[in-house]
Amino acid sequence: MNGHGAVQLGGATWLRDQNNQRVAANVGMYRDQAGNPRLGPARLRTFAILAPTATHWRPASCAEAGCDRYRNGYEIRIDASSPDPLTVARLVYLRSRKHGVRMEEYRAERSDWVVFRVPPGERVFGHEGQHRIRVDRPELFAVHDPAAGTYLHRGRANGADDWQDQFANHQDQLATRVSQG
Ligand SMILES: [Zn+2]
Repeated sequence: MNGHGAVQLGGATWLRDQNNQRVAANVGMYRDQAGNPRLGPARLRTFAILAPTATHWRPASCAEAGCDRYRNGYEIRIDASSPDPLTVARLVYLRSRKHGVRMEEYRAERSDWVVFRVPPGERVFGHEGQHRIRVDRPELFAVHDPAAGTYLHRGRANGADDWQDQFANHQDQLATRVSQG
């Protein structure tokens, strides 16, 4: 890296997508001192640690997921003056107690709003199928390569060791390319 102190490697950027999958994007590209991109997308490799939803997660109850509403209790507020049939039906349903959820009804003074207070540990309306938790299964160590496609490392530590070696080697190769100008 002699004389290239200002050069920035595309390098490893750790991201986290919505499925909580960690992705190290090791981009085979960098910018030189003039800000021009060097190397090419042919060297672009993505190193990823994956926990796919289908295989590494399962549906979980509010209790298992440590859901806030389940832990702390919650309130349901309904405007009792609303003519909306859906709102009226909700109010009737909540008062009917057919749902089997413990709750107490309050009415704020000089207000049309009705408040149902649900204590901790009760079912949370609308949370059916909302939570997922990781199953006890090792993550997948994947590499996407423009030439070889996407493949998984297997072997020691479910492929973690080989993945890490390849990641380090790839970093070294990019660094060497940069220092060679
Ligand atoms: Zn919940």
